[in-house]
Amino acid sequence: MNHTSYIEISKSAYKKNIQFIRSEVGEKTTISAVIKGNAYGHGIENIVSIAEGAGIRHFSAFSADEAIRVYRASKRNSQIMIMGMLENEDLEELIKKGISFFVFEFDRLEETIKAAQKLQIKAKIHVEVETGFHRTGFEWEDREALLKMLEDHQDVLVLAGLCTHYAGAESITNYVRVRGQIEKYHAYKDWLIEKGLSFERFHTACSAATFSYPETIMDMVRIGIASYGFWPTQETYMYKFKSLPENNKNPLKRLISWKSSIMSLKKVKMGDFIGYGSSYMAPRDMLIALVPIGYSHGFSRLLSNQGKVLISGKIVSVVGTVTMNSIAVDITDLKGVEKGDEVVLIGKQKKNEITVASFGESIQQVNYELLTRLPLDIPRKIIV
Ligand SMILES: *Cc1c(COP(=O)(O)O)cnc(C)c1O
Repeated sequence: MNHTSYIEISKSAYKKNIQFIRSEVGEKTTISAVIKGNAYGHGIENIVSIAEGAGIRHFSAFSADEAIRVYRASKRNSQIMIMGMLENEDLEELIKKGISFFVFEFDRLEETIKAAQKLQIKAKIHVEVETGFHRTGFEWEDREALLKMLEDHQDVLVLAGLCTHYAGAESITNYVRVRGQIEKYHAYKDWLIEKGLSFERFHTACSAATFSYPETIMDMVRIGIASYGFWPTQETYMYKFKSLPENNKNPLKRLISWKSSIMSLKKVKMGDFIGYGSSYMAPRDMLIALVPIGYSHGFSRLLSNQGKVLISGKIVSVVGTVTMNSIAVDITDLKGVEKGDEVVLIGKQKKNEITVASFGESIQQVNYELLTRLPLDIPRKIIV
């Protein structure tokens, strides 16, 4: 069966992004590829294969189900880490498979210890400490109890990491808060080390922290958005811009392109309304192309009378409302357009380009959200 659109994912773009991130973090730091949210919409299996081809051997998932998908897709025996959700009943399977996970509360720590004792296999844990994100993490006040549990169960625990997550390193507005978090993390880290604990890796940085607070890089960075070719925010890009070499001012490359084709053409008379309701009345005799993409495919309804797509290499506008399955596009000024012609929703066509950012800006949706809302069932294919 044919789908109404497809997504292309560029291997070479991913490689370039990793090269750039590598140049930022140095040779010694592990780059963990964050693949939560179905690898930011790209597809976990696609990204595991592409990333391993680019030398990545560490992946970060949000939840146990994602981690298992990485485990099945990995051909290089990569390390896998869960940063968020798992059920206590998942623990045995994760421990058996050698999948590591964040531990940020006593309940999970106790259950982990029990599961590891039962299996007689060490559990690999990353101890997450609260530094000011106020979502998950052991409080500073809990440090004595935490230390005691870790010390008492060294026989069943591998302390794979000591970690935290920053609350908004992508915006200068949060500067004071992030600075405070860095200090708190170091206080916790120094205290645990002084008490005699050691950890395989210290890791705190996401993409924005890596670029804007290089002292947060440490043994490992957890990189999501930048590996997919986007700056966390325009602000992060501006902050970095001056220090980028003259011949490489645009080191992050988008992997994703989203394409469809024209379903049919229609002539519309001046004064006719296009689509549902009366949101668009033809101001002249027009030629309209129907494209079989709508809000059910992730093309937001908010793009009604606003969205742009590429046809014949030209930027053309959505007219009327975005419906569940289609949009109408004004092609009155284009010549020789035919049914079946390619329509680019995100990506390049001849000299023009629609970036995810510009797509998102018109409806105030950040890259992260737009990418992860691309439906799972749109076919994705890997290209060079
Ligand atoms: C999502 C996430 C990251 C990666 O964030 P990016 O901004 O996409 O680089 C890193 N660490 C944690 C804990 C996360 O949840």
